[in-house]
Amino acid sequence: MAAYTIAIVGAGPAGYFAAQALQNVETEDLKFSIDMIERLPTPWGLVRSGVAPDHPKIKTVSKVFEKIASHKTFRLFANVEIGTDISVAQLQEKYDAVIIATGSSLGKTLGIPGEDLPGSISAADFVPWYNAHPDYVEVNVPLDCDTAVVIGAGNVAIDVARMLALEPSKLDPTDTADHAIAVFKTSAVRDVYISARRGPEHAAFTSPELRELPKLEHTNVAINKSDIDAAIVRAGAEPEKDVKSNLDAMLLIAESQKSEHERTMHFLFQHTPKQILGTERVEGVLYSTPKGDVTIKCGLVIIAIGYQAASINGVPYENGKVVNTGGRVKENLYVVGWAKRGPSGVIGTNKSDAAAVVELIINDMKSPKNAGDISDLLTNQVVVDQRAWQKINEAEVAAGESKGKPRVKSIRRDELLKLGLS
Ligand code: NAP
Repeated sequence: MAAYTIAIVGAGPAGYFAAQALQNVETEDLKFSIDMIERLPTPWGLVRSGVAPDHPKIKTVSKVFEKIASHKTFRLFANVEIGTDISVAQLQEKYDAVIIATGSSLGKTLGIPGEDLPGSISAADFVPWYNAHPDYVEVNVPLDCDTAVVIGAGNVAIDVARMLALEPSKLDPTDTADHAIAVFKTSAVRDVYISARRGPEHAAFTSPELRELPKLEHTNVAINKSDIDAAIVRAGAEPEKDVKSNLDAMLLIAESQKSEHERTMHFLFQHTPKQILGTERVEGVLYSTPKGDVTIKCGLVIIAIGYQAASINGVPYENGKVVNTGGRVKENLYVVGWAKRGPSGVIGTNKSDAAAVVELIINDMKSPKNAGDISDLLTNQVVVDQRAWQKINEAEVAAGESKGKPRVKSIRRDELLKLGLS
């Protein structure tokens, strides 16, 4: 029997699905011990700090993660940072294979004037702020203005616009960070514009996300019907299935617009941002459009145009991704998920992606190294293991019960460590 040790760096969906793919191919003759290493004191990655809090169904995938973690040869080492506490080279020495699954945490930038003004925020900062990520508590989100603009036409832009345009009491029964709910409740924002630089037929939204918008109880959603009619013509007689589905969903919104609510989410198409205007803080966005330049006055801009990977020492990066061929980086180092392929696809996409990389790993395997594990490198480190994480998890869920929430997330690292290790 061959028993291999695998280190997975990053406890998000891509990491868990890599662990699951390894577990799925185990046989009597082929076994894996999996050590999952995570920088934060909590696992689940984007399922905890990315998925919109008003989408609790998507978060139920965490049950799958916990099942993977319950495997007897799986261990969690959270609150351990690779690249600083321990090097990638050290991991490569110890383990038969090392899989990077650290996602893409940095927001792409527009590269236009005014992008750094106060009130111009990347979705990569705004989303973890409302999701109680310990590193983003201090993000300043000015909601004292009547209009906000979200730049980008993907699902993150929709999530962000929805969070800004929801009646804030809708967030009470969710696991949105308490600090964010408090700020949303003081929000003066009543108009939220989502701006796409191309036409509706090119939008990166997916249709389920569009179809839920008309169901928002306290928010109008406005799409210009002539924009959709023109896009339908441009898309031709046989548009791709996803394009057709999106255009159908947008047409439905355009044809059944409500106007009775205080808050409105507006869609703008063919608006290419040229400049974020303002002196002391954001005052508007200047766009070029087919009809000439247009300014939308606003006090807040969220830039949601995609992500790139944050680099880790010892791992080669290019164009916001880890340099790899089909998941192979170098020697016994591999990569999965957004760090491998870029920030695209839904959580489930990581399943097939990870399975393909695991196949590659198995084909590359030589004899097991038997070189030990991470434990002897962790002399000064407070580690959150699976048991400690379960204590944190249970405490957060218990704190939510009396408030009718799925959980109340602890935000500070020391609080999280106290919950897990006391
Ligand atoms: P995305 O789907 O790639 O969308 C990015 C958007 O930004 C595109 O509309 C793109 O327009 C636009 N963009 C890029 N550069 C731009 C620029 N310089 N100026 C103006 N617009 C620009 O990325 P995402 O929204 O960050 O989502 C990432 C992935 O997560 C996606 O696969 C998404 O479906 C997934 N996700 C899923 C859910 C869900 O299932 N509920 C929720 C959130 C995210 P062009 O096409 O013109 O480049």
